[in-house]
Amino acid sequence: MPKEYKADYRVNLLKANITGIEVTCCGHHLGEMRFQNNEGLICPVCGTHHTVVLQHNHFHIRQNQPVKGDDKI
Ligand SMILES: [Zn+2]
Repeated sequence: MPKEYKADYRVNLLKANITGIEVTCCGHHLGEMRFQNNEGLICPVCGTHHTVVLQHNHFHIRQNQPVKGDDKI
């Protein structure tokens, strides 16, 4: 994993179907998110939430930073 990347998303394909997304953040491999809506992983180093959001013909991979004094994600 090259150090110059803050975050990395490896999207795994099997016969053109996405099976999962492996997330790396802060140099740590956090694991694999299942390709399902609102699946997510939290980086233990920086606290960033990495989430996958599926929509009708596309999907997003989002980062949400923790904000002090705000419990909402
Ligand atoms: Zn991180």
